[in-house]
Amino acid sequence: MLAYVRKVLPPMSDTERDAIAAGTVWWDADLFSGKPDWEKLRRYPKPALTPEEQAFLDGPVTQLCAMLDDWQIRRDGDLSEEAWNFIRTEGFLGIIIPKAYGGLGFSALAHSNIVIKISSRSVTGGVTVMVPNSLGPAELLLRYGTDQQRNYYLPRLARGDELPCFALTGPEAGSDAAAISDSGVVCYADYKGQRTLGIRLTWNKRYITLAPVATILGLAFKLHDPEHLVGDKDDIGVTLALIPTDHPGVEIGRRHFPAGQSFQNGPTHGKDVFIPMEWVIGGQKMIGHGWRMLMDCLAAGRAISLPGLSTAAAQFCARNTGAYARIRRQFGISVGKFEGVEEPLARIAGTAYALEAAGRLTASAIDHGEQPSVLGGILKYHATERMRQCMNDAMDVHGGRAIMDGPRNYLFGTYMSVPVAITVEGANILTRSLIIFGQGAIRGHPHILKEIEAAAIKDGDEALARFDEEFFRHLRDLSSNMFRAWFHNWTGAFLAHTPHVNGVEWIYRRLHANAVTFAAVADVAMGLLGGELKRKESLSARLGDVLSDLYIMSCVLKRYEDDGAPAEDMPLIEWNAREAFYRIQTRFDEVLVNFPVRWAAWLMRAVAFPLGRHRRPAKQRLMRACAQLIMSPGAVRDRLTVGIYVDRDPTHATGRIENAFAAAVERDRIEDKIRASHKGPRKGSPDIALLIRDGVITQGEADALARAIATVREAIDVDDFDPAEIASREESEPHGLQRRAAAG
Ligand SMILES: Cc1cc2nc3c(=O)[nH]c(=O)nc-3n(C[C@H](O)[C@H](O)[C@H](O)COP(=O)(O)OP(=O)(O)OC[C@H]3O[C@@H](n4cnc5c(N)ncnc54)[C@H](O)[C@@H]3O)c2cc1C
Repeated sequence: MLAYVRKVLPPMSDTERDAIAAGTVWWDADLFSGKPDWEKLRRYPKPALTPEEQAFLDGPVTQLCAMLDDWQIRRDGDLSEEAWNFIRTEGFLGIIIPKAYGGLGFSALAHSNIVIKISSRSVTGGVTVMVPNSLGPAELLLRYGTDQQRNYYLPRLARGDELPCFALTGPEAGSDAAAISDSGVVCYADYKGQRTLGIRLTWNKRYITLAPVATILGLAFKLHDPEHLVGDKDDIGVTLALIPTDHPGVEIGRRHFPAGQSFQNGPTHGKDVFIPMEWVIGGQKMIGHGWRMLMDCLAAGRAISLPGLSTAAAQFCARNTGAYARIRRQFGISVGKFEGVEEPLARIAGTAYALEAAGRLTASAIDHGEQPSVLGGILKYHATERMRQCMNDAMDVHGGRAIMDGPRNYLFGTYMSVPVAITVEGANILTRSLIIFGQGAIRGHPHILKEIEAAAIKDGDEALARFDEEFFRHLRDLSSNMFRAWFHNWTGAFLAHTPHVNGVEWIYRRLHANAVTFAAVADVAMGLLGGELKRKESLSARLGDVLSDLYIMSCVLKRYEDDGAPAEDMPLIEWNAREAFYRIQTRFDEVLVNFPVRWAAWLMRAVAFPLGRHRRPAKQRLMRACAQLIMSPGAVRDRLTVGIYVDRDPTHATGRIENAFAAAVERDRIEDKIRASHKGPRKGSPDIALLIRDGVITQGEADALARAIATVREAIDVDDFDPAEIASREESEPHGLQRRAAAG
């Protein structure tokens, strides 16, 4: 078996090994074992902000949100000067920097909540704040910087005296970031009048967020030492350095124009630029460790920034689309009452619940010391994909109202930004196909990594002894998982040890059965395909989908209990559960249909589906219940959208909708009264004077109805422009930006 395992093991490059080794495993390992300990999850402390963090959210974050007008930002091509100053001076660039260095020193949970609130107002605002706090100079310095670098840069970053960016991507190296052609050569040169050991750098980077306005550039490049000035290796490997952007030779300042958004993003170049060795992050001892440093930082960052932005979008869609579906009437009724519209509304509501649940728990795990790289990948992919679906659904429900761009349109800017979230921090197809299961299978699996390590041992006897021990444990777990999966799928996990929580026991049981089945199927797939599974992306992507659904459903159940198991939230839990179980069933089926070893596919089919494929998606009744929750005012709607900025100013885009929603609720109440009296016509306008005379409604109610109808009418209006205004805008975008950038 050892010989067989050595043969089927995937050949692994150093960069792959670093990527796989990055971060830690947590609940993902429980799911991979096929024996998830639900009590462990339930006992996990309820995520909570400190009073100071809450005060920051209620104070400066709310103030910043009030300053952000996304339409104006998109027109101006930048945040206002007032917003930029506020971001710098109030500490937004130092959320993750410890207090000792003058930063806010907030938790990952607070960081995530701040990103959610700002992004719900403006994607440009959200990206501008999230990037310096995510994978970038501050995080790298905190983990790897020398004392001198930390003491110099961190207080300056926290105060906003420095604006950072981080450049990895280049024209030839996108997803395959390890293929960067940017290079540095170790050499001596004259620097500030002294012969100094350093690096002569040449780079060509693109897509770099904040680069056009950055004062320090974090740069990833491959380091070479042909003269062996620092060791005996020619090629040292990926190295990271921090370079002030006013350093001679650094070319920076031109802008890309990403998906109509106005956050700062652009290329940077440099040719034969000499930097002293002390500018390498972590100093000379960290040369060649850049890839591992990046992977470690990405492990945590990926779980916060883009999932936060996606949660913001989902909550924003839930609040405003639910409201609009009630306000807007066609064929005499609110459009949200049509069965066809209930379906997207339910999806939006359910997604807003699940994304908040997953973001909250994962951020909390980071605060408890985890660097959940697999879970970060799950969140990055699924949060952004589900956000994409939410945005499409919200656009569909709004119809033309969301298509006509202008200051009244509160959806279009975020809708356009969706591909940004899909592409950055690991483009989604790659993340789904390679990272989630690929990394999860090796890191989360209880035995695989140990077997790989044993197989790599050169000494034959020791390799055999270590391998034997692990392999037989593995075999025992595999046969146990196969049997338990078959048994639980027969019995609906009736005898599984799952928690007793009112109303959701059945979800725990099915989740348990699915987790055991996943462990068994994943094990057989890895055992029979070995390294070949890496190339069978369609299989590993689908197994990754199952793992992701198991994780996100675990988060949903955890949130439900942490929130005090409110009965009113039950439709959202049930919708998520039914959709997840149906999806899991479909993914298992797709894996088995495509599995190349046919006898094993049939065996696994007998284990996974002993009673056939009998899970069904959410029924219309359930979708209606979910849709109603976001079309009605109340605690559930407020709880579902708790993270976002709610504007109540009726002259602003979303404030107008909030106002009209309240008016529509009043309108519907009065009209119900009229309808119930059988004195109002079924169609057309009722004769109000007659209704007052007959005592059906009071004069006050008649006035309120007239006011509500006018408010609603105003809210469905869209913008129109003087043709000259549109022509001048077209002229100014994006060429105007280039002109401005070129002019400095
Ligand atoms: C708005 C924006 C901001 C950015 N900010 C920064 C920044 O600040 N710093 C920085 O360094 N970079 C930044 N990036 C770069 C970003 O990380 C890359 O765009 C990303 O890594 C993808 O690279 P690519 O665009 O070249 O796509 P490509 O690598 O060309 O990929 C094209 C497609 O192929 C798929 N694909 C590639 N390989 C595989 C595979 N093995 N299996 C399956 N599918 C695969 C991808 O998923 C994608 O769908 C930014 C990009 C954008 C758009």
